[in-house]
Amino acid sequence: MSKSLIYSNIKHMRQSQLFTKTQKDALKDEVSVNAQLLIRAGFVDKLMAGVYTFLPLGLRVMTKIENIIREEINKIGGQEVFMPTLQPKESWMKTGRWDAMDDLYKVKDTGGKEFALGPTHEEVVVPLAQKYINSYKDFPFYIYQFQNKFRMELRAKSGILRGREFLMKDLYSFHLNEEDFNDYYEKAAKTYEKIFQRAGIGDKTYKTFASGGSFSKYSHEYQTVTPAGEDTIHICNKCGLAINEEIRAETETCPNCKGTDFRKEKAIEVGNIFNLKNKFTKPFDFKIKDEKGEDKEVIMGCYGIGLSRLMGTVVEVYHDDKGMIWPESVAPFKVHLISLGKNEEAEKIYADLQKKNIEVLFDDREVTAGQKFADADIIGIPYRIVISEKSLQAGGAELKKRSEDESEIIKIKDLIEKLK
Ligand SMILES: [Zn+2]
Repeated sequence: MSKSLIYSNIKHMRQSQLFTKTQKDALKDEVSVNAQLLIRAGFVDKLMAGVYTFLPLGLRVMTKIENIIREEINKIGGQEVFMPTLQPKESWMKTGRWDAMDDLYKVKDTGGKEFALGPTHEEVVVPLAQKYINSYKDFPFYIYQFQNKFRMELRAKSGILRGREFLMKDLYSFHLNEEDFNDYYEKAAKTYEKIFQRAGIGDKTYKTFASGGSFSKYSHEYQTVTPAGEDTIHICNKCGLAINEEIRAETETCPNCKGTDFRKEKAIEVGNIFNLKNKFTKPFDFKIKDEKGEDKEVIMGCYGIGLSRLMGTVVEVYHDDKGMIWPESVAPFKVHLISLGKNEEAEKIYADLQKKNIEVLFDDREVTAGQKFADADIIGIPYRIVISEKSLQAGGAELKKRSEDESEIIKIKDLIEKLK
């Protein structure tokens, strides 16, 4: 069973059983907010610079992001596969990227045979498609995957925003003409907007014009505005369109409305979409006979989203000085149930939430109230319910949103209805 199925099936957990613990003190070797909070809250563990283990809470977030992306990509016809990380050198020689790509990890076995650790999968997906596709009637088609990618980052210090090993969704579309490609590119762009909206960062994420390299005029980056960003984007004050630094250097006016008034923002690139044209189909000589029997070159688009980076971006956008504040759609659980002192009532509510399929982390540990509240704040689950002598005397349970300061007392019988 895939991890996504396992994690969407588990709806509840006792914190006393969770093997990870929170850490109180700031970490000396992490400069980024996302890594500080994710490590201290027990979502990820740093193995070495740019390489992280996803712990139970962090993996739940990652899996939710993955499932949002999967649902939306399936809607635009994506067929999911799982391609290998270890890839033959010959394919990378064919496309010229064995020598041209500076950040490619190359490994050698004891027999002297060389391989690439995939930073991207054109070298695998093109020969794969070529094996199965032999008629123009098979077009267009769309192949995607979730895969760990490798990139030789010499300065990995942005936490999970820029890893040496990181999880990505990469989608590849195959077409026989430009018009068909353009239709799909627009469809994918709309889908990307939906994905970022559902992940909670839609309002801060801009479709940004970027240079298309030598193959097309433009490509697009999806840039999320936050002070932690390593990129700079220029947002047109008239129409809201964004362009990246490279494009800004080449143009005085907005490509959309011809406006000249831009504001500058720091941003993180959470996704990109690219017109590859025949860049990768040509080296593999991927051609198809059209209805007239003439050879047609296959053209491609590629569409990436960095999942670990998206998760780090959500943390950069949604946190305060006490910890993370997860949007409900990607939170590890919906409810953090806290019992102070031994009380039957909390156990009963825990059972009720399970029955109603409401995701809940139950803090049943024997630690101080202060410790429980601090942990709830750093972990950042959207709803906190406290059951204590005091709350029961006041008439029920204390309910507080992580994003708000005020709490309210809710009658226990109304609690489930309130949370549904
Ligand atoms: Zn404009």
